[in-house]
Amino acid sequence: MVKVFFNTFGCKTNQYDSALLGQSLERSGFELTGKLEQADWVVVNTCSVTKRGEDKACQWVRKVGREFPGVGIAVVGCSVEVSAGRFRELEGVGLLLGTEEKFRLGEVLRERLERINGSGPALEEQRGRIGLTGKYEGREILSAHAERARAFVKIQDGCDNRCTYCIVPYARGRSRSRPWEQIVAEARALEEAGHYEAVLTGIHIGGYGRDLAGRPSLSVLVEKVLAATDRIRLRLSSVEATEVDSRLIELLSRELRLCRHLHLPLQHGSASVLARMGRKYNPEEYKAALDRVLDSLGHPGLGTDVIAGFPGESEKEFEECFNYIAALPFTYLHVFPYSPRPGTPAALLAGRPPVAAVRERVRRMRELSKKKQENFLKEQLGSRLSVLHESRLSSGVSVCRADNYVRAYHRGASPAGGFILVAERTWRDGVWGRLEC
Ligand code: SF4
Repeated sequence: MVKVFFNTFGCKTNQYDSALLGQSLERSGFELTGKLEQADWVVVNTCSVTKRGEDKACQWVRKVGREFPGVGIAVVGCSVEVSAGRFRELEGVGLLLGTEEKFRLGEVLRERLERINGSGPALEEQRGRIGLTGKYEGREILSAHAERARAFVKIQDGCDNRCTYCIVPYARGRSRSRPWEQIVAEARALEEAGHYEAVLTGIHIGGYGRDLAGRPSLSVLVEKVLAATDRIRLRLSSVEATEVDSRLIELLSRELRLCRHLHLPLQHGSASVLARMGRKYNPEEYKAALDRVLDSLGHPGLGTDVIAGFPGESEKEFEECFNYIAALPFTYLHVFPYSPRPGTPAALLAGRPPVAAVRERVRRMRELSKKKQENFLKEQLGSRLSVLHESRLSSGVSVCRADNYVRAYHRGASPAGGFILVAERTWRDGVWGRLEC
């Protein structure tokens, strides 16, 4: 049996795509292996969001080509759409499949093996179909995910926004929503397979449903999934603050199975930088949207993304951003230095701040993130956290995740399913708790 090894770069949506690809390969007679040295083929599911991510994938492919001669390499996904040239000439690369084409991997691989009987890598390249039909292409239901407790459920692909720094719409096309019936069926299948949490994921989930008949919104979708399942809890991946509607806020405050955790990407806290980024709000509008959430939910787990060093970012604009973020009750920040992506409007903008200044801005933001995270952990002490088991350390300590995204530890085995931990003290990057009897 032909053995296939996967290496996935990038976001939760990519993780989901790889899980689905793996399932479909298994169903068409391939065997998945977690050991690179046993593989006949290697699939590299790429991410093009930052140059660094793409560099890493390139380096890894080069290493495999050098150390495992004779192994076929299939490079698939975002980078194939926007940077195929970086992979085409690399040793061992036999297949390049774009964002939509990658879902034909099993078929293409099978045809290829039959045609040339597995010998010699002749390069095949298929890409450019993204968004041709304008619809989410019907695919099979993912019935289990490698991670035991948590699974991802993809609800849409692509994005209709054109933030000036972002390569994603070029790599994944316009927004296509997955029919809600498929999503509900998948959530039920994952629940039956024993998963306790489903993360609703996509590229622009706040735009869910705008292209479907009846325009079901994200909140309508969440209601449908909750109604169709019994015990699986739901978590939302990144969603634009201005797209969190009152119905979703109500669900977040009422439904115990919907995690009180939101990741609301801000990107910058200065109006002028946000305008240059092509974001669809200014700092006042973002804060108004956030206040609506906080008025109902108190202090949920609250994350955001920040880009430091965008072209033209002055000291004054950075300070505005820093002070704006410092004043808001975020519980963690994902901070990225600006990474110019060829083909995006921002890559043509002049005035990138000096490297040393960007490094310092990133450092300060990450320091701020650490403080916010520590404060949030202290707030948890004495409270009852609704947690799920994630893994176990060699010392016997169990690692869990609370619904507000706080990491929680306790000694010994965790009960099956969700349970309550009482937070006693901060420990490592989370809290130490005791099981509530
Ligand atoms: S909303 Fe903006 S940053 Fe997010 S994927 Fe779409 S274009 Fe990129």
